[in-house]
Amino acid sequence: MSRFFSKKFERLTPYTPGEQPRDMKYIKLNTNESPYPPSPSAAEFAKREAEKLQLYSDPECTDLVNTAAKTLGLGEDEIIFTNGSDEVLNFAFAAFCDSDHPAAFPDVTYGFYKVFAAFNGVPYEEIPLRADFTVDVNDYTGINKNIFIANPNAPTGVALPLCDIEKIVRSNPDNIVVVDEAYVDFGAESALPLIGKYGNLLVTQTFSKSRSLAGARLGFGAAQAPLIRDLNTVKYSTNPYNVNRMTMAAGVGALLDTEYFERNVKETIETREFTKVELEKLGFTVLPSQTNFLFAESDITDGETLYLKLKERGILVRHFTQERIKDYNRITIGTKEQMIKLIETVGKITEGTK
Ligand code: PMP
Repeated sequence: MSRFFSKKFERLTPYTPGEQPRDMKYIKLNTNESPYPPSPSAAEFAKREAEKLQLYSDPECTDLVNTAAKTLGLGEDEIIFTNGSDEVLNFAFAAFCDSDHPAAFPDVTYGFYKVFAAFNGVPYEEIPLRADFTVDVNDYTGINKNIFIANPNAPTGVALPLCDIEKIVRSNPDNIVVVDEAYVDFGAESALPLIGKYGNLLVTQTFSKSRSLAGARLGFGAAQAPLIRDLNTVKYSTNPYNVNRMTMAAGVGALLDTEYFERNVKETIETREFTKVELEKLGFTVLPSQTNFLFAESDITDGETLYLKLKERGILVRHFTQERIKDYNRITIGTKEQMIKLIETVGKITEGTK
């Protein structure tokens, strides 16, 4: 830290992104990217836009908002697009939380919530998940805090049914409930249909996973118009051109290619279920997942050892040091071939330790 660094950030611990190594060619199952390239129409639209990069992007993201509103059945004033869904989550902490409106989220969840809270000077409570890593909805009913809930949750992969999400939203009418649906397309129920009913609900989604655009950085928030206006106040006070031209065009292309999207999601779900069964055969406990990753642990090898041994053998998974989950690894669902290689390698590693 230099002597110039502001005191307000003195105790800030930044988020640690998953490794993006360049030293060798890994099978990369550590950051929940899609193993499939973007839709050809997304790539084509982005390429065309590259020729206009001398011009600023449309701060209102008009084409993208119009396309998304049609696809998702929302009003055009009910969506804000951002530089990844991380940005809309940060905007939500900035717009709605402060010392009088603290935040609450599970103790085991997306690690960025804590960082965004600290960055925005927001006090927060971490509510323990149950022993089986499920959310106890009663812990979130009428708690007088702004709630951030990933559904499905990460890194566990476990989803709450929509009726439970609705209970949380309904019982906290004077607080914002942010439902982070980064992984919702892989089998969970979206809360988007509840937006018309609840003025305190903000749903966030990303194009990084099911739409294969992690490197383009595109996400959005959906809520009733007054909330979107507040988020726009934050956006226009920080970076009005937060979504670049190529990304915006790629987003439209990806939304229009529903067939490609549906095929990849289906393939990922099938590969996930195949991988789960195979890991269980090897003696792993695997949480039920509605995402594009699995959260798995085994008595045969501890989480960190498995992570390191897989890395030595060219396969990257994600290990977290947090006490409650240090026995686990989070494994992104790649192609079927990649997962067969993973299972073979895990088999060899665990065989050697028996
Ligand atoms: N929410 C959750 C639960 C995530 O796992 C991620 C991906 N790291 C994000 C939000 C943010 O994704 P992005 O910024 O790529 O949209």
